Amino acid sequence: MEGVETGQLIGGFWTSTERRFSVINPYRREVVAEVCQAGPDEVHAVLAAASPPGQTPYERSEVLLRVRDRIAARDQDIIRVMVAESGFTVKDASGEVTRCLQTLTLCAEEAKRLAGDVVPFSGAPGGANRLGWTRLEPLGIVVAITPFNSPLNTVAHKVGPAFAAGNAVVLKPAEKTPLTAAMLCAAFVEAGAPAGSISLLQGKGSELGPALLDDPRPAFYAFTGSTAVGRKIHAGAGLRKTQMELGSIAATIVLSDADLDLAATAAAGASFRKAGQVCTSIQLLIVERSIEGAFTERYLERVAALSTGDPSDPDTDVGPVISPEAADRITSWVDKAVASGARALTGAGRQETLLAPTVLAGVDHTMDVACREIFGPVTCVVGVADVDEAIDRVNATPYGLATGVFTNDIDRAQTCSERLDVGSVHINQTCSSRIDLMPYGGFKDSGFGHEGPHYAIREMTREKLVSFTFH
Ligand code: NAD
Repeated sequence: MEGVETGQLIGGFWTSTERRFSVINPYRREVVAEVCQAGPDEVHAVLAAASPPGQTPYERSEVLLRVRDRIAARDQDIIRVMVAESGFTVKDASGEVTRCLQTLTLCAEEAKRLAGDVVPFSGAPGGANRLGWTRLEPLGIVVAITPFNSPLNTVAHKVGPAFAAGNAVVLKPAEKTPLTAAMLCAAFVEAGAPAGSISLLQGKGSELGPALLDDPRPAFYAFTGSTAVGRKIHAGAGLRKTQMELGSIAATIVLSDADLDLAATAAAGASFRKAGQVCTSIQLLIVERSIEGAFTERYLERVAALSTGDPSDPDTDVGPVISPEAADRITSWVDKAVASGARALTGAGRQETLLAPTVLAGVDHTMDVACREIFGPVTCVVGVADVDEAIDRVNATPYGLATGVFTNDIDRAQTCSERLDVGSVHINQTCSSRIDLMPYGGFKDSGFGHEGPHYAIREMTREKLVSFTFH
């Protein structure tokens, strides 16, 4: 693919390797590019060359603003590449770019606010004549490992705060979407990021992950991906810090007093954006039974209006899933659910990697579609008696990322905000609601730690106390 680096970025230089892997367009099933596959030698070389930017916070902030401007200037190229390698629609890819610009702006702003706290020593016995404060210091090398389903903005949410905090960053993006990540790294180089402050390793996580974990040089592992891989990285990190943004079975609750049109429109978008391949896509749509019929009718109308097809067509709403293997798995879970008594209210059709937006009813909580992360365009409508049952249903999953609640009753909204065992509760928004400045992270098997530049920067630094005594 023209204009996109396909090698590793080591010590400020793009380098090639003999071994290559193919990036496949999920819709057309054609080879988009052959990308250099790194191995343990490249891991060693990257870590040896990695060095913190060593600039002032103001200088780092300026670099981040220039990166943002480079991304903005190349937005159409990036959208084209992202659509080709991820199968995301033009609408979804455009949304990623817009959000990435915001994320980089936030990182640039936060770089300038990197400050610790004043410690009131004299407020304690023995503290007279003492003065103290804390400093936020970079950790050294931050390794960022990212998933296919947010090939630009999640990468920016790792690389941006790590750089803003003054760390060297080594990025290992998903092997299915290496090109968009390479474009972001190229923007850092063009923006004047010092050599070694940002590095890129392309290739399989199962091969590069162990090499990156066995080496003592990285100080922090920032990971977004599946819970299974997150467990391995966290175990391999030992005493080093990690940020784990993991899997989920995200739910949105619609209570009887909600604005049903508002809820139906928002839910249709949040169920099928990126063909349901978002960690906060609505997998469980939990509806109070007294309004289940009225709400479901409105929701299905909105789902029927979504156009499914070629992701490069600007009018398409729902594109393919990432691979034939993913399509096979999703289809088999739906087929098994239907064979066991679930009803497909719409969808359940397939053409290669293109799956029709599917809404299931009558699911049992033991079915794969309801108790395992589906990561595809499938939503289960689950009727419940009341708000208590809705909360119990969400809390029964092993995950705890985010929940949306549609209600106009402040007492029930408050009950949900207190009792839902998830990292974010959004009243009158779906579980998929996200503004890039907010703290974003999960509980339970959805992981720990926070994205959101203000919060991530604090995780990617260490806080040192300094005290002065005056005699
Ligand atoms: P994945 O776990 O298969 O891969 C993620 C990254 O980990 C890739 O770069 C991969 O190469 C790498 N990897 C694989 N094995 C590794 C190993 N042994 N050591 C080190 N790295 C390894 O995930 P995916 O299929 O790319 O993405 C989908 C998953 O990501 C879903 O579970 C989704 O919920 C999750 N996700 C979570 C969030 C969140 O914020 N919580 C956001 C987006 C995606």
